[in-house]
Amino acid sequence: MSTAGNRTFAIIKPDAVRAGNIGNIIQRINDHGFKIRAMKLMHMTREVAGGFYAVHRERPFFGELVDFMTSGPCVVLALEKDNAVQAWRDLMGPTDSTKAPKGTIRGDFGTSVGENASHGSDSEENAKIELSYFFNATEFC
Ligand code: ADP
Repeated sequence: MSTAGNRTFAIIKPDAVRAGNIGNIIQRINDHGFKIRAMKLMHMTREVAGGFYAVHRERPFFGELVDFMTSGPCVVLALEKDNAVQAWRDLMGPTDSTKAPKGTIRGDFGTSVGENASHGSDSEENAKIELSYFFNATEFC
């Protein structure tokens, strides 16, 4: 039986949605053996985006990051797989899309360090916090 420890929180960011890449990214999610346990299209408010990235509040790029994350709809997902947190980060590639290898989601669909097509939790602890920030218990399948 699966446990919450095998889940991570992912976002298909507004740049990737705008570019028509929802389907391409979900195809990779399927191809790499993740199960989608929750998913929704949403347009974040500044309050929601700022709260989600509160850890970066003092960073110089915070305003730009909130502008970007509220610039259009995104897709938020709960992904399940063994070692989901690390497996999803490996599939995304490094933060800076210009340095991410081809074959990774950020390498193929991102365009810069900020507009990098996807988000993934960086620890199991943060995955739980982020999943509960975006989903109610009843939204997991
Ligand atoms: P990751 O998303 O890979 O865990 P961080 O937690 O460091 O990376 O940053 C969160 C998000 O903030 C990044 O995914 C990216 O969209 C944005 N970001 C990070 N660094 C910069 C930067 N130097 N300039 C603009 N945006 C940035």
